[in-house]
Amino acid sequence: MSGKAVKGEFVCVVCPNGCFIEAEYEDGKSPGGEAKLLSLTGNRCQRGEAWVSQELSAPMRTIATSVPVRGGDFLLASVRTKTPIPLAKVRDVMGEIRKLSLDAPLHIGQTILRNPSGTETEIIVTREVQSA
Ligand code: SF4
Repeated sequence: MSGKAVKGEFVCVVCPNGCFIEAEYEDGKSPGGEAKLLSLTGNRCQRGEAWVSQELSAPMRTIATSVPVRGGDFLLASVRTKTPIPLAKVRDVMGEIRKLSLDAPLHIGQTILRNPSGTETEIIVTREVQSA
């Protein structure tokens, strides 16, 4: 083992079970080292292990928020990232979303922004908004 073994606590967000996971991993601060998962407990399935490994190497997040709508039967349309984005990009992507203002009608799954802040995702609508 090259890095120092440390313990961490995680809540898996992959499914609604929200398993509380305790993990032991190399801290990744060793020269050339990346945080390496050594053991974990509390996950009810293997996806939890994959999720913790991802958290240790390159954490990703999904953004869900809303955007103002002009001329619709709702004032806001809920939107989200189509796929998770790097945690480090969340603030920048939120900044781009906040600049948006949409025109009704809007349909679920409709893309309103591509590659925000250089990410490889799209921002999509998650609520139907009809023209008023
Ligand atoms: S470990 Fe498995 S069961 Fe638990 S929250 Fe993650 S995906 Fe769901």
